[in-house]
Amino acid sequence: MRIITSLIIAIAMLLSTTGCAEKTPHVIAHRGYWDTDGSAQNSIRSIVKADSIDCFGSEFDVWMTADGQLVVYHDDAVNGFVIENSNADDVLSQKLENGENVPTLDRYLEAGKNLGVRLIFELKPHTDRAQESQAITKLLDMVQSKGLADRIDYITFSKEGMLELIERAPAGTPVYYLNGEMTPEELKEAGAAGMDYELDVLKAHPEWIDRCHELGLKVNAWTVNEADDLQWCIYHKLDFITTNDPELLQSLKHQQGLSK
Ligand code: MG
Repeated sequence: MRIITSLIIAIAMLLSTTGCAEKTPHVIAHRGYWDTDGSAQNSIRSIVKADSIDCFGSEFDVWMTADGQLVVYHDDAVNGFVIENSNADDVLSQKLENGENVPTLDRYLEAGKNLGVRLIFELKPHTDRAQESQAITKLLDMVQSKGLADRIDYITFSKEGMLELIERAPAGTPVYYLNGEMTPEELKEAGAAGMDYELDVLKAHPEWIDRCHELGLKVNAWTVNEADDLQWCIYHKLDFITTNDPELLQSLKHQQGLSK
């Protein structure tokens, strides 16, 4: 009887270990959870909403203004103000679709600090490499001073920005590349945590997924919104999916017995 009990406990432990693995693909809300009441892309509300539905991560985009303020916004310009060439006052006085002002990174991180959601920090590629490098200095200082270094994954289309983040962020900080042209071997060699590629790139190179995993790298796809595409990512065992529809992805995972 004791042997049977031990066997049952061993099987239960094995199943619970497997259960942990089945949390993937982790759900990342693209520009926060914005397609919902009162929210807007890259608004403070969008990260609060992503957290409220238990997303694993909430993605946001960061630029630096000409006078050195880090701000959260997706496009390179807001209402005609090109962010890299504009002063913070002009950028930060602009409204998002939900009525919030464009947030500073400082405000955004303060909001994130009180939430459980992981912060998926996209550094936008700046036209001026020196300005981008200054942005990296400032953002690393800010993240460090807020005690958030272990709550952040960095992502960027800028290859030089990626290399600089890998070099200058605290050891072990995950940095992912977005641009799609680097192979798993090249990313491993560069010290990246993995690839965060457009879904079509991964569909053209499905072999990269297993190769990344063999090399100890993780794989994320963006921006995946349709059920059949989300299903493709689940089937191919991606580690993360970045989506505008986090609740659809959560419901698909639930249907398949995967946790949020
Ligand atoms: Mg982004």
